Amino acid sequence: GLREWQRPLREQFPIVTGHPGLAYLDSAATAQKPKAVLDAVQAYLTGCNANAGRGTYTWANRTTALIEEARERVKAFLGDPAPGRSTVWFTSGTTEGLRTVARDWLVRELSDGDEIAVPFADHEANHLPWLEARDLLAERGVRITVHPVPYQQDSHDYDLEALAALAASAGERLRFVAVTHVHHVYGADMNVHRVREAVGPDVPICLDAAQSVGHLPVDLGALDVDFAVFSGHKAMALPGTGVVWARGLRGGPFRPGGWQGTPNTAGIVSLRAALDWLDAAGTARIEEWTVGLGVRLTDGLSRLDAYEVLGCGLSLTADSTVQRRQGLVTFRHRAIGANDLGFILASHGLLVRADGLCQARAGESDASVRVSLHVHNTPEEIDRLLGVLSDLADDRPGVGRR
Ligand code: PMP
Repeated sequence: GLREWQRPLREQFPIVTGHPGLAYLDSAATAQKPKAVLDAVQAYLTGCNANAGRGTYTWANRTTALIEEARERVKAFLGDPAPGRSTVWFTSGTTEGLRTVARDWLVRELSDGDEIAVPFADHEANHLPWLEARDLLAERGVRITVHPVPYQQDSHDYDLEALAALAASAGERLRFVAVTHVHHVYGADMNVHRVREAVGPDVPICLDAAQSVGHLPVDLGALDVDFAVFSGHKAMALPGTGVVWARGLRGGPFRPGGWQGTPNTAGIVSLRAALDWLDAAGTARIEEWTVGLGVRLTDGLSRLDAYEVLGCGLSLTADSTVQRRQGLVTFRHRAIGANDLGFILASHGLLVRADGLCQARAGESDASVRVSLHVHNTPEEIDRLLGVLSDLADDRPGVGRR
């Protein structure tokens, strides 16, 4: 069964096996690295470390080849339907990736009167760059309209009917849509495979895949988007890695001009190794495992009145027409502040995220605790967490009341 599949995989994370008292429950912030990734980096740095794209000796040529191979690996991993026409651009993460699309592509594309639709309640990395693009254009006398991609308030999913209506009324003025694949607070799988149908064939779509790549199968052919941006470090590669994938677009290649300066060679090598590892482990099974753990946690929380789960944490379903949930659960204690709860959990060796979670337009009072799971996590860790949360379930006067 799944447990027999998972056990040896957990053993492959040195930081996990090296800290038996700790449960790492913050993979949505950054993922831990399997030994194969660390080995690949070691082999590269001790075997042929050099700069790329300019060599007369084998190490430099090998580095250049490794980077080109990594580009192809990214395309294959994402199910790129036309790898001969697309571009893979390496960045430091999703934030830089989305900003690159905004600054280096979007501002070139838009003219006066154009309209775009972007998220207003997702990660701020998929919100602020589009507003910055609008402001940059305004400085040049080009006025555009920025619409929020409509949300369904009750489910925190996008409202694709309202998006279709927006697209219909904007007509050809709608020139760009940005969406998020899996929400970093609600764990919601945002039904992005239906965005194309809502906006029509000609509107470029940019996908923030920061919380999906490495966690579930991502198939760009099926999603029919024009840009996909993710963080390598959340997909088990080294810190400081990320990707912009761009489909071959009208108007020439994305960021023409060849080499981008000295790339993060070791990071790119690690990304390739990470994608190999994830493919071998199987992203469909990783999804099944982490969603199962998320269900275990939400079930446990639903029995504790002291906690409120954000989003509709219990509506987990595999039916693709209904919103699915990923292994990421965010909640609040009704009396203990999120920060305090985070510290209490850390004192029990439970490493969670506890703050405003970088949600666009969130305020101070929106702080919450996020538990995000990956393949190395276990039901025992969830039960340990639920045990501590249950002990804290009675309102205790004076403990970090808000
Ligand atoms: N988008 C989403 C949905 C995220 O979850 C994150 C990371 N929390 C980011 C963007 C930003 O990623 P990075 O920190 O790697 O730039």
